[in-house]
Amino acid sequence: MTDVSPEAADIVVIGAGFSGMYALHRLGGDYRVVCLEAGDGVGGTWYWNRYPGARVDIESAEYSYGFDDALQQEWRWPELFAAQPDLERYANHVADRFGLRDRIRLSTRVTRMRFDESANLWHVWTDRGGYLVCRYVIAATGSLNASNTPPWPGRENFAGQVLHTTEWPREGVDFRGKRVGLVGTGSSGVQAAPIIAEQAEHLFVFQRTPAFSMPSGNRPVDPDYERDWKANYPERRKQMLQTYGASLVKYPTLSALECSKEEQDRILEEAWHSRSAFQLLVAFRDVLTDMAANDVVCEFVRGKIRQIVNDPRTAELLCPTTYPIGGKRLCIDNGYYGMFNRDNVTLVDARAAPITAFCEEGLRTMETTWPLDVIVLATGFDALTGAMTRIDIEGEGGMRLREKWQSGPTTYLGSMVAGFPNLFMIHGPMTPSAQAQMITTGEWQVDWTARIIEEMTRDGKTRIQTDETAERWWQDELSQVASATVHRHADSWYRGSNIDGKADVFMIYVGGFVRFAELCNAALDEGYRGFTRL
Ligand code: NAP
Repeated sequence: MTDVSPEAADIVVIGAGFSGMYALHRLGGDYRVVCLEAGDGVGGTWYWNRYPGARVDIESAEYSYGFDDALQQEWRWPELFAAQPDLERYANHVADRFGLRDRIRLSTRVTRMRFDESANLWHVWTDRGGYLVCRYVIAATGSLNASNTPPWPGRENFAGQVLHTTEWPREGVDFRGKRVGLVGTGSSGVQAAPIIAEQAEHLFVFQRTPAFSMPSGNRPVDPDYERDWKANYPERRKQMLQTYGASLVKYPTLSALECSKEEQDRILEEAWHSRSAFQLLVAFRDVLTDMAANDVVCEFVRGKIRQIVNDPRTAELLCPTTYPIGGKRLCIDNGYYGMFNRDNVTLVDARAAPITAFCEEGLRTMETTWPLDVIVLATGFDALTGAMTRIDIEGEGGMRLREKWQSGPTTYLGSMVAGFPNLFMIHGPMTPSAQAQMITTGEWQVDWTARIIEEMTRDGKTRIQTDETAERWWQDELSQVASATVHRHADSWYRGSNIDGKADVFMIYVGGFVRFAELCNAALDEGYRGFTRL
């Protein structure tokens, strides 16, 4: 197959993002672990997404590692919501502090994997030419890393620059004196737009579907806040894992429909200023389960948009009306709606007149041509499955993962796929993914996976696999909890419906992190239910 001699490892971890680095740290003491990373630096999401305005949408006190108390006591976040450079600095600090660098191969993209059934080993090829042979692969490839670029023709004719938010040049981009077209109004577009507007001669925001967004309330961390977190970290980390989204918000018991209008407004006003998107979505117990309750929150946010945006026509265009709040990921912003009051910002309705092509001058829509110097694509990701299906993964009997997943992903507990033994995913499809705070839940999934590997070693086993019965059970569980929520009423990357030709199936576990963790633990505690160990 190849004349290069393989390198042996116990475990290959794919990706040096936050989960991958923790997997390397967690298992690296007892096993020979090699971590392969496509980027030339660590940090994963926070390495690639360096567009202007990129910052976390959950407070950094929560969205940070909890596995090492000295780390969380010593590290200082400058702002409540860390910006990308600080998150990347944190990732590099962790790599150095825990001595991970010598086992991370940067600029090394995994291109192909094949399971050797006779030896129960994975062969892992990279674009660097060599290959590794290992017992286990942990794909810490992230939910959101395969970028989505619309298939418009004519890119080669455009004289200006085309950028994607997730492949941003390290040296940055100078927008001064430029006419900039920003396509996409999800979390990335909503964060980037206000910063670009401050620099550009003119910013045209091409909106196909308006986003719901709330203000982050970001500010520098004050000493009292930091002291309070550091005094309570161990306890709060435990509490996070006992919540729906691994995030400390208030979980009210009231239904929106049993409150007076005044009471609704008071509760929603508080949630609007809570600095937590989760809080707005659980302001009442039924926001995510009842369309009428959901609409109370939608109308509140639409009211905010109409208050903030001066031009009534622009305000109406910015008001989402076609899907429930939370059905798509709720954005959290720093001055997004207010930005539309600037003279140098224009909102373009790319729903009424869809973009059809790049052209020499800029972008062409069904109606007109928009002259531009720079086009920024904030058009999102082939989420959840894309990172895995872009690798040529061959399991038992020559089965290809991308073929198996053609009509949508199948997994057991979001961790393993039938026909692909000894391959684990972290934050894979059918996990809570972005429905829960991802650093903490990533650590949890790594610990759970490490337990499996350690118990395999202890018991002298070399192969663990799941089967289609277990996959069907997990699909039923996922569908059942999803059918009780409003998510099915929105097109989004949660469903794959943002990608032309991708199977439209709901891919996120929305039963809450607590239930997810209980089911994962129960499977192991009850004799590895749904798994076979050989
Ligand atoms: P996204 O939410 O999928 O948004 C993509 C945007 O591009 C949508 O507005 C979409 O419109 C638009 N679009 C796609 N193709 C288009 C086309 N052909 N013509 C016109 N518009 C088009 O992607 P994202 O903003 O990158 O965010 C993805 C996820 O990443 C978020 O949901 C969040 O979980 C995560 N994220 C987090 C942060 C943070 O922590 N702060 C920041 C950024 C991203 P439609 O809605 O009509 O499809």
